[in-house]
Amino acid sequence: PLQLSSVQPAPPDAILGLTESFLADPRSDKMNLTVGVYKDDSGITPIMRAVKQAEQILIEGEKTKGYLPIDGMADYRDAVRDMVFDGKVPNERAAVVQAPGGTGALRVSAEFLADQFARPRVFLPTPTWANHGAIMTAAGLEAVSYRYLSADKTSLDLTGMLDDLSANARPGDVILLHACCHNPSGVDPDAQQWEQIAARITELKLFPLIDFAYQGFGDGLAEDSVGLHTVLRHVPECLVCSSFSKNFGLYSERTGAVVMMAADQAAASASVSQIKRLVRCNYSNPPRHGASIVATILGDEALRRAWKSELMEMRQRIHRLRESFVKGMKEVAPDRDYSFLLSQKGMFSFSGLSPMQVDQLRTEHGIYLVGSGRINVAGMAEDRIDWLCEKVAAVL
Ligand code: PMP
Repeated sequence: PLQLSSVQPAPPDAILGLTESFLADPRSDKMNLTVGVYKDDSGITPIMRAVKQAEQILIEGEKTKGYLPIDGMADYRDAVRDMVFDGKVPNERAAVVQAPGGTGALRVSAEFLADQFARPRVFLPTPTWANHGAIMTAAGLEAVSYRYLSADKTSLDLTGMLDDLSANARPGDVILLHACCHNPSGVDPDAQQWEQIAARITELKLFPLIDFAYQGFGDGLAEDSVGLHTVLRHVPECLVCSSFSKNFGLYSERTGAVVMMAADQAAASASVSQIKRLVRCNYSNPPRHGASIVATILGDEALRRAWKSELMEMRQRIHRLRESFVKGMKEVAPDRDYSFLLSQKGMFSFSGLSPMQVDQLRTEHGIYLVGSGRINVAGMAEDRIDWLCEKVAAVL
């Protein structure tokens, strides 16, 4: 018989567990460089001003909390299509299904691929976001790895990546790519490397599943789409999983989308109908609030401009922090070179610190990093970089 008393506890989430320890840490000068959320200088994850304004508009004007369609809100779907594809895909070949966050978009996509394509395998970069493997396997796909980072974890191993794909991938396999701001390394291919990757994917007839969780966090909304648009030029079809958790700061509103490029209109509409069938027996239909905010902002010229400039502020803060940290480390540890951090994109990078050094930073100084040495640059306080560098140098 089913007995809950026989259930064994699952291991806690490694990163969220660290946040619990951080919150319980009584030291007032502690610093949290673990979790993947943007923070401002006071260490909080702010609500963007454009989002607050959109919410005011919604409070006044929203007339119903009735269900959305299974594939989501029409205005949102159109706005997302334009933001992600930027006119590069004819509208009849494009389709969007709203999803609960980037995670929801990945899970829905994976279920669709597993359901329709005789359980293909999915190639994941090493390393990748810790949740990718679990999502793909839970949906019934077999996860296989391909090399992505060089041994020193500071640059792309393009040869290793292409060799692994050629050696191991079969036509019809899925390849997961980070469109920009690779989590956890911050290492993105440059434009020319994207061309080579897209050509190899085409040659091997792989199906691209592109995780686009950080559009606008690297170099800009358009700049961060260069890799994606390169892939779109080469392949006949692909799925993009967009998240607006980071670039709109809508983490808890679960705002994402599956953005599809299909071979033609019939393929797009049949695929959407299958995705809707899967959504219906999962969460039935997506949440309204976050999507309403995004649609309101993107649909209003002034709000859109305001949001873009706030997004630019966030991006510039991350760049500034990277620069100050590299400069600070040069002063306290001149024999080490941290300049690789300057070319990396988004909030994350590998610091090169060992698990022991990470432990020491936490126990002795209240500086929290993930065991792999990944740092969330946005967790640094601008006026405490010197302090941070001193402590990091002390454990080197
Ligand atoms: N993909 C990557 C690479 C991520 O880093 C994240 C968020 N940490 C997600 C997807 C999921 O984002 P969301 O919170 O919108 O589900």
